[in-house]
Amino acid sequence: MSLTQINQVMEAASSAFEKFKKLTQAKRAAFLQAIAAGLENAGDNLVEIASSETNLPLPRLRGEMARTCFQLRMFAGLIEDGHWVEAIIDHAKPDKNPPAPDIRRMRIPIGPVVVFGASNFPFAYSTAGGDTASALAAGCPVVIKQHPAHGQTSLAVFKIMEQAAKLTGMPENVVQHVEDKGFETGKMLVQHPATASVGFTGSFNGGMALQAYSQERKHPIPVFAEMGSTNPVLLLPGALAADWAGIAQKFAVSITMSMGQFCTNPGLIFGIESPDLDQFIESLAIELQSFSPSAMLHTGIEKAYFEKTATALRQKGVEVQFSGKTGSEVPEVCIARINAADFLANPLVQEEIFGPWSLVVVCKDATEMVDCRNALAGQLTTTLMATEQDMNDFPFLIDAALNHSGRVVFNGVPTGVEVCGAMVHGGPYPACTDSRFSAVGPTAIQRWTRPVCWQNAPTQILPPELQEENPAGIRRLVNGNWQ
Ligand code: NAP
Repeated sequence: MSLTQINQVMEAASSAFEKFKKLTQAKRAAFLQAIAAGLENAGDNLVEIASSETNLPLPRLRGEMARTCFQLRMFAGLIEDGHWVEAIIDHAKPDKNPPAPDIRRMRIPIGPVVVFGASNFPFAYSTAGGDTASALAAGCPVVIKQHPAHGQTSLAVFKIMEQAAKLTGMPENVVQHVEDKGFETGKMLVQHPATASVGFTGSFNGGMALQAYSQERKHPIPVFAEMGSTNPVLLLPGALAADWAGIAQKFAVSITMSMGQFCTNPGLIFGIESPDLDQFIESLAIELQSFSPSAMLHTGIEKAYFEKTATALRQKGVEVQFSGKTGSEVPEVCIARINAADFLANPLVQEEIFGPWSLVVVCKDATEMVDCRNALAGQLTTTLMATEQDMNDFPFLIDAALNHSGRVVFNGVPTGVEVCGAMVHGGPYPACTDSRFSAVGPTAIQRWTRPVCWQNAPTQILPPELQEENPAGIRRLVNGNWQ
């Protein structure tokens, strides 16, 4: 795409912003509801297109479509409710010395957002997915950079969004779709002066490239990149002794779900050397024998999986425990083991391999386990398989998990991210570029807003959320009291 075309797109987004941000929350909510209804009406047509492009099975995609519609409606409900603006009012204190002015603050939309669709979620984290739904809810027009691995799906979803915009009387170009592929187009979109923020889910290299483009701008902008994770799992001795077979069964399912193509896939499993750990590894290998592999999302991901597993298996101390790869054209699940000393000495085996891969790291004791956990830095999740006694015996492992993760899972699997108010799907770098926010759940809206404060503003200037009579009827913190 030429710079002239990018200019046209971003200038149109800028004009749309001036109108869109002034609409009532109810109107924006109606738009989100109409997109959800349009997607539902399209039914299996969309799901079939997505399946043919991504190799993901129909039931998985139907579930993802339901989640996408749920997210759109959740954000519609959130903005109709109105509390998300986080209104705070501190009345003037004329008797204070010196007198304090009247100060009122709330969140406002940041401006046009560029969303890069994710290859592994063609609906829920692409065109009309969580980033787009939360940005539109906040009052930001969205320019969608289509993911080339599901171009037809993206276009079909976008047409439904355009239709919903017309039906509900949205400003022209409130959503736009950029169909070109190539990094130069992405770079021009991020660096355009009218772009106010960026949403991205994908590779570490991709996310960091977008962040670097932003830093080269005259005025850098926030880039919310969710770049994946190895999602360490800490197997503690009491839990392993109690049920190594049950744990192996759970993790066999989690590692292979959707060919392991989830950013929450458990890629590293840590245990303390013992016969129970050996039984667990053996049992995991047996469970995986019944796994039927399928083609991956796109050839680039498949090639990267073959190359990265081959490289990992060549590293010092890495021993294969199960690999269905021999003579197969389709990538298969692969489980290997390594001792903690070799793991700590080699950053290469600490990296994410996107696909059905997991490396079991055998530690001498819990101190070595915490060293391994700390070596990994920021992660979307850390999982502890632990009894109550384990948690009392090794509290420092819980501290390490909390220090470096967006979500700490107890006695479960990290795959499966619930869409709800308390969810955090994010985490310290390198999992994400900004650990203060979540990409999933209603709080995801905060990414596309900034707080503004009105000092001594006349009533007619104030937005309804901050007017004295509270015409919006929202919960507010007034002089330190919730009202
Ligand atoms: P990707 O390579 O990160 O690409 C995602 C999007 O970002 C694409 O639209 C791509 O542009 C754009 N992009 C990437 N690098 C860019 C750059 N330097 N400049 C401008 N735009 C750039 O992700 P992918 O193709 O989906 O998969 C590749 C790898 O990403 C996987 O093997 C996996 O490791 C990881 N991944 C992680 C997650 C996660 O949940 N964190 C999800 C999916 C994939 P084009 O359209 O021009 O290609």
